Amino acid sequence: MTKDSARKEQVRVRMERTGEKYTQAARALEARPRLMLPLPEPVAGPGACPECAGTGVGEWAAVFAEPDASAELVCPVFCGSCHGCGRRPHLGCRPLDHDDALLWAEDEGFETEPVQQCPSCWGRRWNSCQSFDADGVYYLRVPCGCSAGLLVAAP
Ligand SMILES: [Zn+2]
Ligand SMILES: [Zn+2]
Ligand SMILES: [Zn+2]
Repeated sequence: MTKDSARKEQVRVRMERTGEKYTQAARALEARPRLMLPLPEPVAGPGACPECAGTGVGEWAAVFAEPDASAELVCPVFCGSCHGCGRRPHLGCRPLDHDDALLWAEDEGFETEPVQQCPSCWGRRWNSCQSFDADGVYYLRVPCGCSAGLLVAAP
């Protein structure tokens, strides 16, 4: 599905839910703010991942929203080299800092941590959402529902 037809589909779904006319629904969707969950401070120094300069995420982000949601969510793609922690080698990071925590912990020989706090995100405020395109699998940093009060305007 192209970006344009995805947008039209969103307008159509919103019209059905709200009873708005096409232009009204399209305008309401366009006027929505774009929000994101702030990233942690990048890792600095010699332990920083060279691919992402310690940020843990790549250069592009996916944008999501339910047709009747009041805002769009901007979700960065995790760095495919460090898998989200910003460290290479993995010194001082935890399994939960990575895009696929359980799989990653096994591969790197970490003990997995007990599940605590928010049962959906384990207290880290985001969930990893697997997606793919022609280049392969990637993971998105999607804000957890428990982080609603922490979202900021996306740049
Ligand atoms: Zn990286
Ligand atoms: Zn790591
Ligand atoms: Zn949560």
